[in-house]
Amino acid sequence: MRIDAIRAQHVLIDDDFVPATLRLRQGRIEAIEPPESEVAGLLLEVPDTAYVVPGVVDTHVHVNEPGRTHWEGFLSATEAAALGGVTTLIDMPLNSVPPTTTLAGLRAKQEAATRKLMVDVGFWGGAVPGNLQHLEPLWDAGVFGFKCFLAPSGVDEFPPLDGAGFTAALTEIARFGGLMIVHAEDAGVLDAHAPTSGSRAYADFLLSRPDEAELAAIRQVIDGTRETGARTHILHLSSARALDLIKDAKDEGLPLSVETCPHYLCFASEQIPDASPQFKCCPPIRDAGNREELWQALRAGVIDTIVSDHSPADAEEKGRGDGDLQQAWGGVSGLQVGFSAVATEARRRNIGLSRVSRWMSRNTADLAGLRSKGRIEVGVDADLAVYDTGAELRVDATRLAHRHPISAFDGLRYGGRVTHTIVRANAIDVERPDHVWGRQLRRVS
Ligand SMILES: [Zn+2]
Repeated sequence: MRIDAIRAQHVLIDDDFVPATLRLRQGRIEAIEPPESEVAGLLLEVPDTAYVVPGVVDTHVHVNEPGRTHWEGFLSATEAAALGGVTTLIDMPLNSVPPTTTLAGLRAKQEAATRKLMVDVGFWGGAVPGNLQHLEPLWDAGVFGFKCFLAPSGVDEFPPLDGAGFTAALTEIARFGGLMIVHAEDAGVLDAHAPTSGSRAYADFLLSRPDEAELAAIRQVIDGTRETGARTHILHLSSARALDLIKDAKDEGLPLSVETCPHYLCFASEQIPDASPQFKCCPPIRDAGNREELWQALRAGVIDTIVSDHSPADAEEKGRGDGDLQQAWGGVSGLQVGFSAVATEARRRNIGLSRVSRWMSRNTADLAGLRSKGRIEVGVDADLAVYDTGAELRVDATRLAHRHPISAFDGLRYGGRVTHTIVRANAIDVERPDHVWGRQLRRVS
């Protein structure tokens, strides 16, 4: 349903909530006016308990289509996004087959996504051994940057880079002014901690993915950034012990940014039951003290963004080994609930919604160079979410829109819920989402 205006007591303009009427035209914000201004056409008025924020820009989502569409696909993932206030997502280059490591891989993605998008979707490329010559053509074709691993990714068709390969890829990416995004766990450290037998105990899983694995890899990323001048981004930071390293690198002026995820900010290892693969992800969820340090680092600006790292699989993969956490597929499915979960957890720590929106919309949009997303300004895309603190969110995994009813957030309650999501002036009814076709996005230089 296309709307012409939205009126609210709390609209996030810059970093403040103010009463306003947003006038929308041709998918964009045409004007920001006083709340009492007259509106012709369809007006959405929201209750006084509701906050209008820029739509969430989630730069870390594994859609898995084509190739592993039985795990997740464009239709189900973008419906989950729309229901959770996410108006733009950027799809990761792996778990789909083929991976997005060649132009043909990108074309396969674009083809598979056609007419299946409820929100706007862009694509990351991948840097793997032997595809150096494909990076610039992918960049020119509109990918937002390149993901690489420094340890096995979990799927054979997307191998990690070794030290020389990583430096070569960074050098190439620096040459054309691209962006490298890194899964930062070190293969050598992980090998040294590899368990000799399976275990259903979360504590054993944690021991197999120690802080040192993140530290060693992040050191390598920082050194590579300094050496090559490439712009780099640390994906899904879990270990707070790496924060000093990151802060020093930023103080030095290196072009480095960092993200963390809702599950690292909402959960703690002490509370995770054994044999519960819905909480398994790599790097792992660590203890409560670590979690609070991540919140501090967000406040201090050492961590820049919060993204879902939504990475679902089917029940067979999540249940592999009957609760053995070494065998189960790693990945948390938080796309639909991430914003509400983080907003509630932030409020418990006296952190306002405007800062949450910065981390989840503005800063992620800026990482991807999407200047028309992640903010409420005249002329930008009318991508908005209405977050109502007068409504409660009770998470029931069987009612989430992503493909499989498995979620670490199952059963939780949050004091605030996304009630409307607006994609380029199209209001999606979150109770009965209609198919508003999202667009495929290309990087704008
Ligand atoms: Zn991921």
